[in-house]
Amino acid sequence: MSDKPHQNLAVIGHVDHGKSTMVGRLLFETGSVPEHVIEQHREEAEEKGKGGFEFAYVMDNLAEERERGVTIDIAHQEFDTDEYYFTIVDCPGHRDFVKNMITGASQADNAVLVVAADDGVAPQTREHVFLARTLGIDELIVAVNKMDVVDYSEDTYKQVVSDVTDLLKQVQFDTDDASFIPTSAFEGDNVSEHSENTPWYDGETLLESLNSLPEPQPPTDAPLRLPIQDVYTISGIGTVPVGRIETGTMNTGDNVSFQPSDVGGEVKTIEMHHEEVPSAEPGDNVGFNVRGIGKDDIRRGDVCGPADDPPSVAETFTAQVVVMQHPSVITAGYTPVFHAHTAQVACTIESIDKKMDPSSGEVAEENPDFIQSGDAAVVTVRPQKPLSIEPSSEIPELGSFAVRDMGQTIAAGKVLDVNEA
Ligand code: GDP
Repeated sequence: MSDKPHQNLAVIGHVDHGKSTMVGRLLFETGSVPEHVIEQHREEAEEKGKGGFEFAYVMDNLAEERERGVTIDIAHQEFDTDEYYFTIVDCPGHRDFVKNMITGASQADNAVLVVAADDGVAPQTREHVFLARTLGIDELIVAVNKMDVVDYSEDTYKQVVSDVTDLLKQVQFDTDDASFIPTSAFEGDNVSEHSENTPWYDGETLLESLNSLPEPQPPTDAPLRLPIQDVYTISGIGTVPVGRIETGTMNTGDNVSFQPSDVGGEVKTIEMHHEEVPSAEPGDNVGFNVRGIGKDDIRRGDVCGPADDPPSVAETFTAQVVVMQHPSVITAGYTPVFHAHTAQVACTIESIDKKMDPSSGEVAEENPDFIQSGDAAVVTVRPQKPLSIEPSSEIPELGSFAVRDMGQTIAAGKVLDVNEA
């Protein structure tokens, strides 16, 4: 275990803009993927006629292993810089990347946005930036990638920087909290070393930028909240739920409760990075074992908390939402899927209580008949199945969500109040 501060990093951006390749490159350049593994993938890639794609290939293989549930640690890729220990909180290259992005972004402290120089701002660039902003990403490092494809043209770089800056302003992301770097994940330009191909750029490399990110906010003194990501059965140990501690601490011997499954018991063992540990804290990705809990008692989307201060289960909740894109209008009765931490639950928007003026935050209209793209509103929501969620003012880590329908993220928001079941 590293004693450097943790950073949970999301890597976001439009499909094919180079996220996987960039992550592979980062792991490779920081020595986090053993040379023999790269070598093996390189040979495999060449055999399959994909020579030169070994970095993306590494990522694909990790994703596949994760899906097969081979080990519990591979769910997250990790590397460190001089300052920080980084965990990449989602797995680019994964088929359900956007879905992962939603749960991933809510857990990430900072993000790298990859924008291909030859394609510029694309639909998922917008979607991911919007989510990053709504779900509370602090700083954005924008890698203007595939610079090799545009012959390292400074003009093209400047155009992309200007377009991304406009996008950030649109979603009210403070552009002081964004930095831009011309990169080629494929060739390795400005990732760990300053590139001779971009003599017009004298800013930081990607690794330098990662190194100079601000330290994540100290954890709140909120009680333990650990959204369950997966539940494994490991021979010799038994049922092992895994997930990231959002708030509070977990110690062996603690009495815990899983909600909404409503089961509990005593924590027997906690494992992190292949080692048994007596306790774990916010930001730690852990697997643990609870006396008396079987594989079918709990599931992804449950939240683990102290038995004497269990996670809230909402009968209804009120929330502030921002509608990003919807082909028509949203009215009361609409039932899309809400993604909150690791849970996905269909929820009915029972009433639209207030429409807000997004720039001033003032109420623009009481009880509007509908809301549409660009609108901010306060709504009352009824989950169709039990959902554990918390007021954002009390536990912000468990108080945000994204709303998806028809394969798109249509809105995102924060929980104001929870009416417990
Ligand atoms: P993702 O969908 O965003 O994860 O994109 P990938 O990392 O899978 O990359 C998509 C394609 O672009 C792959 O064929 C990569 O080899 C290629 N690619 C990624 N980064 C670069 C780059 O910097 N330069 C060039 N020329 N190709 C790149």
